[in-house]
Amino acid sequence: MINKYGSAMMIAHPGSEVRVLVRSRPTANFAQELIEYLPDGQTVSVHQRKDSRKGVVNNQLSSWSFRLDGVLHDVSQEEVYGRVGRGVVLGALEGYNGTVMCFGQTGAGKTYTMTGATENYKQRGIIPRALQEVFHEVEQRSDHAFSVHLSFLEIYNETLVDLLASVRGCPGVGPGGMAVVEEAGGGVSVRGLSLHPVHSEEVALNLLFEGEMNRIIGAHALNKNSSRSHCILTVHIESRSHTLSDAKYVTSKLNLVDLAGSERLGKTGSEGQVLKEAMYINKSLSFLEQAILALADRRRDHVPFRQTKLTHALKDSLGGNCNTVLVANIYGEASQIEETLSTLRFASRMKCVQMDPVVNEHTDPVLQVRKLEKEIQLLKQELSIHNTLANRMGMSYDTLSETQVAEIQSQVRRYLEGSLDEINIVSIRQIQEVFAQFKQAVQQQEQKVKAQLCQNYTLVEKAQSTAGSTAAKSQGSQGTVGVVEGHGFGVGLAVPSDRHIQLLSPGRTKAIKTKELASQGRKEAVEGRSPGPGKQVESVNPVQRDREGREHDPQNQEPQGPQEPLRTDSPPPKAEAFEDFKAERGSEINRILKENKVVLLERRARLRELTECVNTAKREIDSTSTALHQWRDKRQIQGQFVSAEGVPVLDEAELSLTLRLRELKTQYRQQYEELRGTKAEVSYCQHLVDQCRTRLLTEFESWYNESFLLPEEVQAMLRSGGPIRPGLVPVYKALALEEDEQEHFERLRYELLADSPSAISFYNAQNRTVQRRNYSKAMSQTPVQKTTPRGSGRTKLPAILSVI
Ligand code: ADP
Ligand code: MG
Repeated sequence: MINKYGSAMMIAHPGSEVRVLVRSRPTANFAQELIEYLPDGQTVSVHQRKDSRKGVVNNQLSSWSFRLDGVLHDVSQEEVYGRVGRGVVLGALEGYNGTVMCFGQTGAGKTYTMTGATENYKQRGIIPRALQEVFHEVEQRSDHAFSVHLSFLEIYNETLVDLLASVRGCPGVGPGGMAVVEEAGGGVSVRGLSLHPVHSEEVALNLLFEGEMNRIIGAHALNKNSSRSHCILTVHIESRSHTLSDAKYVTSKLNLVDLAGSERLGKTGSEGQVLKEAMYINKSLSFLEQAILALADRRRDHVPFRQTKLTHALKDSLGGNCNTVLVANIYGEASQIEETLSTLRFASRMKCVQMDPVVNEHTDPVLQVRKLEKEIQLLKQELSIHNTLANRMGMSYDTLSETQVAEIQSQVRRYLEGSLDEINIVSIRQIQEVFAQFKQAVQQQEQKVKAQLCQNYTLVEKAQSTAGSTAAKSQGSQGTVGVVEGHGFGVGLAVPSDRHIQLLSPGRTKAIKTKELASQGRKEAVEGRSPGPGKQVESVNPVQRDREGREHDPQNQEPQGPQEPLRTDSPPPKAEAFEDFKAERGSEINRILKENKVVLLERRARLRELTECVNTAKREIDSTSTALHQWRDKRQIQGQFVSAEGVPVLDEAELSLTLRLRELKTQYRQQYEELRGTKAEVSYCQHLVDQCRTRLLTEFESWYNESFLLPEEVQAMLRSGGPIRPGLVPVYKALALEEDEQEHFERLRYELLADSPSAISFYNAQNRTVQRRNYSKAMSQTPVQKTTPRGSGRTKLPAILSVI
């Protein structure tokens, strides 16, 4: 793969395996008969002669074959770098993490491969070449700004050592010491490890040599310069494009790892400090192998990286999101064949680890904000030009000022009250504010209703749990679970649908299942009207609007004209709604009312007639009686007629008057009796008419409230015969009533609006009584069937009667 700079790249494709190459240290005694490199340049065969000392008698050979990614035998340092390091280094410059790691027995050439011979430029290893390539590329890629830092970590006997701590200006390790810490996103870093900014190859090499000098060197039987520690030199690269998106940048870590030797304890003859070192080394390598095996097994989701410092520090540098290339260094002498075998086995296991490298791209939040601000500015300018072209001058898209918010609030209020027909839409911000104001109004309304309900009743939340009621019963609470004395324990109206609300008032306790009420409310709403098509943008839910409109001044509402449930057009006047109600839902009761009124009028007319007759009769009686008395007085003066037997005898005139008086009295009594009966009928008719009228209006009010004014729960309560709050007393004045109706309801209204509790209770009681009455019974009743039984006893004639 050739990148745009013409450099060869060997970046792994996602899902590919870790690359493993074997390199053998040159030796004059290379065991050619035991180690065989096959012509494919990838396969190593190892033949082991069975050791007679271990009980095997003949010199039988055992053979193993290892297929790796390459064999580096008798190759120059330059070629090694080209085949091992270059791809990883170039990948790191593109934003991929990369790791080059050497492992193998002590003296096999790990340090030689990684660092090389420091005194010989030609024999310099992968690290100096990698550093050289990094700065070469940084210079070449002028369209990017790079920042490079170096860190050099040594892990010795499970202790973390900063090999660059001795560098001048190094801040030194903090109080917590050094530790491998996990980073967000799965990466790791070493706390307390110094990071050194590097601007040139030379500075980088200086740091490398400084670190090398600081390495702990242990005396060893095989190689007195052999390192007994693991070393990780990390090149931290950050790259920002000068040309592409400012806020985006990529980072990468290039780990160049020189592991401690993997030879066995028995062979080295180590003791004391060296034995301890060897134990630590073996432990960490063994855990490295475990980690590698876990990484290679895709079914395992846990990799034991944290068992040693080495694996923990290499957590994000082995496979996974990382280009990893490993070099298995072997010492090809016959005496080292066991170690060689061990190293090659380790190498073949390493090869199974999968890689899935991705570019570490980040976004700089500060730059991102700056970029977006710039974009917003540009868009505002675009918008301004657009408005100018569309003749919309003076538009502002900034956050609304307090004055603007207040103006919107006022518009919404006027809209809800009905004094403003529509709210002109000018901007998204304004729309949002309008909705916010509507929401606020709804919330205020809910609060108000709730407060009102809490004032009159005690709302108690009652969980519908069997356990709860059982417990309550066992405590002897007599079923009054959750009853709270007095006021002030309110429950939000939006109670969960599977709960009960208990409404407790002094004379009345009623449990309402809100689910049923809700469904009832919904049903009525659905039965109402479905929303019509073609709604305008500014139209707000009319039910909400209607509720809020009444929220502002519930006592002083003028009829705005309610609308049918869910109707989204402008509401008809209340009087119109009443006419509709009379024609539809209230038609039957209205018919009865009308019939009763006809009978009442007829009875009243009859009563007037009778009263006239009775009064006439009375007047005649009086005049006749007077004439008779006058006649008798005259007779008394003149002397009385007596018969032959001496019995007083009436003269003709007196007889005539007496008979007339008797007749008049009889007539009077008859008429008076009839008048009494008619008067009772009129009274009864009047009562029926009043009752019908009250019922008609009550039902209209209930229907009106349920449909337009109250939250669903309250509507439900009303439907179930609940209270009507004072604020919703009907405004009869607004209705186009006949004169007598007007008079009657003016009186009723006066009582209700007197704001006295008794008036409210009266109204509530009346409302309940009317609603409880069986409707069908009322329907089947003849308007006037009952007549008052006529009195039979004689009564003293009253004075002139007044017409009712
Ligand atoms: P390790 O780090 O694995 O213990 P070294 O890198 O220190 O081993 O190598 C041990 C010795 O072998 C060193 O003196 C080194 O110069 C030499 N050596 C190793 N590999 C090579 C090689 N490929 N070419 C030349 N000399 C080598
Ligand atoms: Mg070494």
